Amino acid sequence: MENLKEFNPYLSYKGGTLYIEGVSVGELAERFGTPLYVYSASYIRDRVRAYYEAFPGSLVCYAVKANFNPEIIRVAGEEGAGADIVSGGELLFALKGGIPPEKVVYAGVGKTEKEIELALERGILMFNVESEEELYILDTVASKLKKKARISIRVNPDVDPKTHPYIATGLKKSKFGVDIEKARELFRRAKDLKNIELVGLHCHIGSQILEVSPYSEAVKKLAELWRDLLREGFELRYMDVGGGLGIKYRPEDKEPTPKDLAKAVKPHLEGLELTLILEPGRSVVGNAGILVTRVLFVKEKERKRFIIVDAGMNDLIRPSIYDAYHHIVPVEDKGEGYTIADVVGPICETGDFLAKDRRLKEVRRGDLLAVLSAGAYGFSMSSHYNGRPRPAEVLVEGDSYRVIRRRETYEYILYEKDY
Ligand SMILES: *Cc1c(COP(=O)(O)O)cnc(C)c1O
Repeated sequence: MENLKEFNPYLSYKGGTLYIEGVSVGELAERFGTPLYVYSASYIRDRVRAYYEAFPGSLVCYAVKANFNPEIIRVAGEEGAGADIVSGGELLFALKGGIPPEKVVYAGVGKTEKEIELALERGILMFNVESEEELYILDTVASKLKKKARISIRVNPDVDPKTHPYIATGLKKSKFGVDIEKARELFRRAKDLKNIELVGLHCHIGSQILEVSPYSEAVKKLAELWRDLLREGFELRYMDVGGGLGIKYRPEDKEPTPKDLAKAVKPHLEGLELTLILEPGRSVVGNAGILVTRVLFVKEKERKRFIIVDAGMNDLIRPSIYDAYHHIVPVEDKGEGYTIADVVGPICETGDFLAKDRRLKEVRRGDLLAVLSAGAYGFSMSSHYNGRPRPAEVLVEGDSYRVIRRRETYEYILYEKDY
């Protein structure tokens, strides 16, 4: 039988039935329908705690874009997490999830004036500034509101995180952050801006990073810049090293732990007085969640077998856009033989698949499958493509569970009233 513990210690088979914590996944599917996202709260708590154990005295800002459900954010917040946001919407979701504004950091290359105003009014900890123009706009908007904007400059350390090119963000050619030399220049310029308070440095080099050496490289560069800036008389407080720690998607993957990350970055920070900020998203919620889907049809073609399920690329787009692997297991393990098949959704796109040429336990119409590692960039990247209401989300803790987002209805998508 599958070794699920390595993905998430709260997943197990009891008498051939998949459980998440103390709750039967099959029962949740019967009760709430499919496709269905199910998350383990205990797993999220453990992950935030693991970050705080590896980095005592730091601020762990959960990256809301990985999963913006306020009840998920709330669980992370209960363990002391702040929030890393990339839009005005995410700020409101974070606040709704109980995160105090003074624990919120705000990155993103395209902040609008409206979003900046909102963040200033709510009093977030800092903006991670990604361009010179943004710096001036921040100063202007802050001046209008008679506020000071605390900022860090997002530095692009030009390191290769060895991940999918779409989620590598710290290379020179990427749109994110500014080069180290440009960062020095921005610090000098920002000194004269009356409504800007310089408080730190930020970087975020990418996502799904399975080796910690790129972090070591990036933080080394950040620390050098930090020391130079201190010599120039700047008083810095926060070093924000971003998120991006990878998770186990394949049975053979070995995921780095927050402790491994600490070992890679701490040597570069010796002697520096600072508050470290981390922004993990995927590594907090990724393996907390599964996507439960029901087999609609098994279709045989000349050379291929297709398992057609009721979850599509609109529910989980990672396989389609990153060619990502998600492990898939049966909800009821009937101990049958194996088949090799593509697991595909109902969407009218050839790119709509969850697995290709996958070895799976034999299934038939009506059976349930669980797509693992679906807690991050699953629901948060979902859409209505093909006119499909988005799935419900259920949060499990111990033996209890509750719906944290209702399944959408056609009426909701059509938005029939009020416009
Ligand atoms: C996406 C993002 C994160 C989180 O990345 P993960 O890979 O989910 O840990 C952190 N910081 C910033 C600025 C981001 O854009």
